[in-house]
Amino acid sequence: MMCNKEYIDRAEQVILHTYNRFQIVLEKGQGVRLYDVEGKEYLDFAAGIAVFALGYNHPEYSKTLKEQIDKIIHTSNLYYNVPMTEAAEKLVKATGLSKVFFTNSGTEAIEGAIKVARKYAYLKDGSTDHEIIAMNHSFHGRSLGALSVTGNPHYQEPFKPLIGGIRFAQFNDLESVKAQITEKTCAVIMETVQGEGGIYPATEEFLQGVRKLCDEKDILLVLDEIQCGMGRTGSMFACQSYGVQPDVMTCAKALGCGVPVGAFVLNEKTANASLVPGDHGTTYGGNPLACAAVSKVFDIFEQEHILEHVQKITPYLEEKLDELVDKYEFITARRGKGLMQGLVLEGKPVGDVVNKALENGLLVISAGGNVLRLVPPLVITEKDVDEMIEKLEKSL
Ligand SMILES: *Cc1c(COP(=O)(O)O)cnc(C)c1O
Repeated sequence: MMCNKEYIDRAEQVILHTYNRFQIVLEKGQGVRLYDVEGKEYLDFAAGIAVFALGYNHPEYSKTLKEQIDKIIHTSNLYYNVPMTEAAEKLVKATGLSKVFFTNSGTEAIEGAIKVARKYAYLKDGSTDHEIIAMNHSFHGRSLGALSVTGNPHYQEPFKPLIGGIRFAQFNDLESVKAQITEKTCAVIMETVQGEGGIYPATEEFLQGVRKLCDEKDILLVLDEIQCGMGRTGSMFACQSYGVQPDVMTCAKALGCGVPVGAFVLNEKTANASLVPGDHGTTYGGNPLACAAVSKVFDIFEQEHILEHVQKITPYLEEKLDELVDKYEFITARRGKGLMQGLVLEGKPVGDVVNKALENGLLVISAGGNVLRLVPPLVITEKDVDEMIEKLEKSL
């Protein structure tokens, strides 16, 4: 049997070094637990970055994928396939929006949303230099369009020039959004709960205020629910708990619970006045295997009452995390919504804690430099929370 170290050495020979990875090689998972190639067990409060909502090796989910593999894996978008339609019906119902375009990732969903906004504006007045307002400390992905609306100079700098016409405002500051609006503004894009930037939920006043502003000026509101959507905050999509509907929503991460898939979803108004045949495409998007996963994920959410479970377990997790805030001087705050929580660390490098936790058999991640991020599978129990707290305290 090869050990972690041997696999890591082999990987470093052939994998481009774009990540400073943790020094473990994960092999399999069961429920909320992962196992490395040496058989060591980890309690997983990272879920593959908010992906594995239903936990690992869910029997019904796995069975569906195996059956789909035996039928058909790929058709291209030149033809229809059944899982694509079923998945889209469920996504339309869950979002309350109207039309779906499936992608292979979050960043591609953002690219699509940007093109929708530009086309919508183009059809309105034929001008192609339309502006998009994005937020500081946002994260929307790594492709050049998504990077252009990602408010992190460190990620952007080496890749300039990015796409033009992007203006940045301050998240949760309505006046700063107003200040960036011009007669050319075609869209505002933001996460409902900022993830990578440090777990900042939008305030109600801000999100509802931006919605109102967009309505008044016929500006599209694009909400990125890639990380905070799919039940993570206790409603199917985080914006629903604010009573706010976007014109365009982006989804990915837990949408397929491990199969690479994303989507941008449009309301009727936007769908009727944006992309038409020839404007956008993808070879894999809407792939039957990925869509069988999406479709099954929605079924399991219903059958297993995942939203109710998240609502029920959240206060327990919050209480336990708040106890840590009270107990440790260097933990200065807790922020978050549902099972998307962050602990703010001052004067203790979050990377050290994360590494220590790994040694102690707990997977957690960081966000925004000094935030310890907890985005566990949505199926965690109170017992899992207790075990997490115990392992985390050992690591502090
Ligand atoms: C992860 C993430 C993305 C990018 O998704 P990828 O699938 O990694 O391309 C975009 N927006 C948000 C909010 C994310 O968390």
